[in-house]
Amino acid sequence: MANSFDVIVIGSGFGGAVSACRLAEKGMKVLILERGRRWDPKDYPRKPGDAWVFDSDEPHKQNGWLDLRVLDDMTVAQCAGVGGGSLIYANIIVEAKKELFDNGWPAEITLDELKPYYEKVGKMLNVQKIPDNQLTERYRLMKEGAEKLGYGDRFTPLDLAVTFDPNWNYDLEDPFNEKHSKTWTNDQGQEQGTCIHIGKCDLGCDVKAKNTLDLNYIPWAEKHGAEVRPLHLVNYIEPENGGYRVIFDRLDGGKRTRGSETAGKVIVAAGSLGSTDLLLHCRDKYKTLPRISRFLGNSWSSNGDFLTPAFYDDRKISPTHGPTISSAIDFLDGSVDGEQFFIEDGGFPDLLGNFLEEIIGGGRKIKKAKYKILAKALGEIVRGRDPLDNCMPWFAQGVDAADGRLYLGRPWYAPWRKKLKLDWDIERSEKCIDAIINMHKRLAGVTGGKPWVPPTWTLLKNLVTPHPLGGCNMGTTEANGVVNHKGEVFGYPGLYVADGAIIPEAVGLNPSKTIAALSERIVDLMPD
Ligand SMILES: Cc1cc2nc3c(=O)[nH]c(=O)nc-3n(C[C@H](O)[C@H](O)[C@H](O)COP(=O)(O)OP(=O)(O)OC[C@H]3O[C@@H](n4cnc5c(N)ncnc54)[C@H](O)[C@@H]3O)c2cc1C
Ligand code: SF4
Repeated sequence: MANSFDVIVIGSGFGGAVSACRLAEKGMKVLILERGRRWDPKDYPRKPGDAWVFDSDEPHKQNGWLDLRVLDDMTVAQCAGVGGGSLIYANIIVEAKKELFDNGWPAEITLDELKPYYEKVGKMLNVQKIPDNQLTERYRLMKEGAEKLGYGDRFTPLDLAVTFDPNWNYDLEDPFNEKHSKTWTNDQGQEQGTCIHIGKCDLGCDVKAKNTLDLNYIPWAEKHGAEVRPLHLVNYIEPENGGYRVIFDRLDGGKRTRGSETAGKVIVAAGSLGSTDLLLHCRDKYKTLPRISRFLGNSWSSNGDFLTPAFYDDRKISPTHGPTISSAIDFLDGSVDGEQFFIEDGGFPDLLGNFLEEIIGGGRKIKKAKYKILAKALGEIVRGRDPLDNCMPWFAQGVDAADGRLYLGRPWYAPWRKKLKLDWDIERSEKCIDAIINMHKRLAGVTGGKPWVPPTWTLLKNLVTPHPLGGCNMGTTEANGVVNHKGEVFGYPGLYVADGAIIPEAVGLNPSKTIAALSERIVDLMPD
């Protein structure tokens, strides 16, 4: 029997959207299966009671914006929807450092090798820096902090996948009014707007100024014949017909309806947690892909993410205005405290209160006491003080030890089921996080702020990451990896992983451009 598609792509984030687009451009018949919705600005979650939560236990009942996965000592934030993490991301599109690829990566992957693919991604995502006449208060604070500590030469504006109008500025009358967003049509024929600094980047841009994947790579894939099926959650994959059958549940009307499709090739692009979870189920539960490497799940990294809010008595910071992040202070050379890290300004939408109420307080049960501490700590920031004006969220990523292990275990509340779990020991990564906190405190101190290190770290050594990496790592053999440098799964020709799950080490800065560039390369090298 002929396969129904040439390629099935599972997931539509930086790995999936890029792969699907380039394969469709090559003339292949492509199907994209995505567990989340196809979002439109009018449906973005805004009020309590809106679709904020994607519940991985009951995805047919709650398939909203954010899949907040509470693992042991680590909470992972990821978006569900057509466009994956691009919908929620802070638009930072940056290349990894040359030295990153020296250790832990297959020899074929170097900065020089990735350069042309980085350029393709940058062009498609139309990257630009924040214009000089639109700098945010947080940008100025970062620059001031860096200069006062003698690190002015390490301060840098960042590349953003946002379209700016050079004529917009904070002195306009009613500057955040949507009437100031200019409509334009992108190279993929999609109508977008220009940025009016409304600061909702993490919750979906109302004026489509963010260059998200559902506005470029995905419509371009569809223009070349690709089919996108939202609300299709893949359960497992099995070999069939010289290719693979992909078995999924359609999430519709509060029900799960089983279905399947076949293809000669399958690209798993469900993200670090999603792809690892799916392949663990195929290997260990359904036993349909039993030869997948024993390395599966190993060398997982949180990318050393940490956020330290600081409060300023007499200084207006306005973290709810402007692009979420727009600048960095680069310590990736390891010259401070012997650790590699990258400080950024953070920001949050003025809907954070609604968000927390739904995610942490009401809409989601908190099963463990320690997560109540996280809820309380975050609640204190938004309720006990006025976060909208005087809080600077000092943010950072760093090169952690990348020594976590994802595996399938039984939750105490449902021991008959197997679920994704994380074995994470902070010991080898603690120095990196401490170096970040130390720098956050120095930057806050020198600019007149009072840093507040959350008790989730000081008491519990718990972390929150939006940048999960690894689990299906690239390696040279199945002894040290799950896929080769071309993304192909050892032992399973035609089965690929192309997303953050294949990244074998912490990147130490925002990873989406590297994930997208690797995916461009995987598809470029894939035989027809
Ligand atoms: C708040 C926030 C801000 C961020 N800001 C930045 C930033 O500014 N710059 C940056 O570089 N990175 C940023 N990131 C991280 C970035 O979003 C991720 O690194 C990136 O999206 C990972 O790409 P991916 O392809 O690996 O996975 P994803 O983009 O997560 O895509 C995976 C897709 O697969 C789908 N999926 C999962 N399981 C299944 C299944 N079983 N069946 C079908 N579909 C499935 C998911 O719904 C998702 O759409 C941010 C993340 C968050 C949460
Ligand atoms: S700041 Fe506002 S307008 Fe600009 S990209 Fe972010 S959400 Fe869109």
